[in-house]
Amino acid sequence: PVLGYDAYDKMLAKTPQKRALRVAILTKEPKIYSSRRLIEAGEARGHVVETINTSRCYMLINAEKPEVHYDGRALPSYDAVIPRIGASITAYGTAVVRQFETTGAFCVNRSEAISASRDKLYAHQILARDGIGMPTTAFASSPQDNEALIKLIGQPPIILKLLESTQGKGVVLAETKKAAESVISAFRNLNADFLVQEFVKEANGEDIRCLVVGNKVVAAMKRSAAPGEFRSNLHQGGSAVSVRITKQEREVALRAARALGLGFAGVDLLRSENGPKVLEVNSSPGLEGIEKSSKKDVADLVFQHIEKRAASTVKRRRKI
Ligand code: ADP
Repeated sequence: PVLGYDAYDKMLAKTPQKRALRVAILTKEPKIYSSRRLIEAGEARGHVVETINTSRCYMLINAEKPEVHYDGRALPSYDAVIPRIGASITAYGTAVVRQFETTGAFCVNRSEAISASRDKLYAHQILARDGIGMPTTAFASSPQDNEALIKLIGQPPIILKLLESTQGKGVVLAETKKAAESVISAFRNLNADFLVQEFVKEANGEDIRCLVVGNKVVAAMKRSAAPGEFRSNLHQGGSAVSVRITKQEREVALRAARALGLGFAGVDLLRSENGPKVLEVNSSPGLEGIEKSSKKDVADLVFQHIEKRAASTVKRRRKI
């Protein structure tokens, strides 16, 4: 009988690729910790690893031989690509990743998955569709619905979150209804889209970052907000320590990464009275905080994952 691709995938995943792979890391920051660690880990496992500035890639789109070009020449075909697409270039970056997919490279995170996880509203809808716990969230477009929106979430304090926010920069805690109304009206005047969200007070300024590689949570850390701050982002002065997560937290993190289709993800959870609540799923998780606090070699695990999966891509490509 002819095996379906899923069955193929499963079979091939059991026979990791032994030959040296050619791997590209798409990043504009080849010198930062995460990039350096990925290069190091890949080379230590015998692979050829290159960093490529995503915004300098350009594309030849045709039916015969789609290509990615860089600085006047066509790039070789890569066995695997590790996209590290910054939030400021999501649209172009995901187009570049899609082009690499078309050339047959195994992309650790696929273009569609990166786009979905970057779109906060869409990502919340996908998680909700899969029944994954999250803080209750509301969204509206018309200023006429400002009051109704606050009502949906209930008694302040409530959280207001700019859709374009990263590193906690656009997240506001409104202590009173008056404060919520004035922040909402300021956002509306700036034409900025935002989510209104239940404030999970009992999380106590702490969140859990679970690092997912393939179908495993390979490391976790607890981040705590600086005194007087409710945001636990390291960029907001938060600190990280290693943490043991529960079976339920592990499952929720895995389900969240899977719902969005990410093979390499940072899933942020809040510990609430009603179990873990997913805040965000990040498609370019940083390695520094998590490797240092958990003492795990996450970069090596990413390459082990690539070895398993790129093998099936190579054989699959030959088959087609
Ligand atoms: P960003 O994408 O900008 O990092 P997040 O949604 O991850 O924004 O929020 C930043 C931080 O604010 C979180 O790590 C968490 O500590 C805190 N936070 C966010 N949403 C909530 C919430 N609903 N309840 C309690 N704390 C929250």
